[in-house]
Amino acid sequence: MNIGILALQGAFVEHGEALEKLGIQHFEIRQQRDLNRPCDGLILPGGESTVMGKLLRELGLFAPLRERIAAGLPVFGTCAGLLLLAKNIDGGGPCLATMDIRAKRNAYGRQLGSFYAEKDFGDLGRVPMTFIRAPYILEVGLGVEVLAEVEGKIVAARQKNQLVTAFHPELGEDLAVHRYFVSMAKGIRLSAGGSAQ
Ligand code: GLN
Repeated sequence: MNIGILALQGAFVEHGEALEKLGIQHFEIRQQRDLNRPCDGLILPGGESTVMGKLLRELGLFAPLRERIAAGLPVFGTCAGLLLLAKNIDGGGPCLATMDIRAKRNAYGRQLGSFYAEKDFGDLGRVPMTFIRAPYILEVGLGVEVLAEVEGKIVAARQKNQLVTAFHPELGEDLAVHRYFVSMAKGIRLSAGGSAQ
């Protein structure tokens, strides 16, 4: 198992550290030739979605990544990564647009720029959630599973091979969400405590 982490900008190093703790091999994707490496899953980190979108196009990564995701490559988008995957965005244009969700950019406004919560995530039980100038999901299409909500707003969801969180699981010690993604990439379904079902 080898996971590619988009490393153009933002919080990519921390995702690598989380995967390392899980003993999962990973590599950085910075240019087209990085796409020649075997890749079982892709992480799109948090950062600035507009900057990442622009760089994806300039570096010729946009079309090949979009094609692979559409073909079923497991992908995990956190925060800005969620915005890269969303088909519709309030407060910005769509980018890869592979996931049937409508998201609101910088949804919590300035006053609540950053905050922390602990909420249920799918079958995994409570998960710590760090939000930084985060989006949330306004609407999901058919076939999208809502995994977590905070104050009635959707902050994590999955559609087949695509997983998104509005928060940053890579910024804490808890590895539950990364473990969930790794099992997704392996085609296994996880429940609380990390046991396979
Ligand atoms: N506000 C950022 C954006 O619009 C996302 C913030 C983040 O990734 N922490 O892309």
